[in-house]
Amino acid sequence: MDPREVYARLLESFGRQNWWPIDREYHLRRGTNPLDEVVIGAVLTQNASWKNAEKALERLKEKGELSLRFVKEVSLERLKELVRPAGFYNQKAVYLKEVASFLLSPRGVLPRREELLKVKGVGRETADAILLYAYGVPTFVVDKYTLRWLERFYGLRTDYEGAKAFFERSVAKNAPVYSEYHALLVELGKRHCRARRPVCGDCPLRDACLLYNSFKK
Ligand code: SF4
Repeated sequence: MDPREVYARLLESFGRQNWWPIDREYHLRRGTNPLDEVVIGAVLTQNASWKNAEKALERLKEKGELSLRFVKEVSLERLKELVRPAGFYNQKAVYLKEVASFLLSPRGVLPRREELLKVKGVGRETADAILLYAYGVPTFVVDKYTLRWLERFYGLRTDYEGAKAFFERSVAKNAPVYSEYHALLVELGKRHCRARRPVCGDCPLRDACLLYNSFKK
């Protein structure tokens, strides 16, 4: 099945996922930039469930400010305390400060992927999530769900860059589509294509899935 058809099928089955989740009301009230929430969330969710990243985001909102400016200016110790629920908080506080310093100067300039990847704590997934969801750059975000699904569905065992190139070759570059596609694959990974035991029975992609069809033989 063509990756474009996969997208259409997932969209029809799961509906729009409306990623990245942003508390726009908060930013409107505080006069902060809603896109800062994407950047901060992308760092906090590294090696952590989104649930724990969200707890840290809430703490920042309640006890500090959910903005890159705040992250840059607050003391490192205080920041560690605030982002503690996300886990690896010693590292993540340092990473957040590095990312905030990088993105705030010079302000308004679209960051380049190669430059973003040089920032301490920014790996490929974080860089692409920031570029796509905060800056609207059509770059495909790959994660563990994507890699697992590619191997099961297409029999394609690859790495981050290989998966990214696969999608960018197959699906026309379009930021809203890439945003939605990534979110839909995460949803598929959570609902059906789980790590230990895939729940294939009512998976919307089962008729074309290599792994599922190999079970039937
Ligand atoms: S049919 Fe099963 S293995 Fe294939 S994509 Fe769906 S959940 Fe994953």
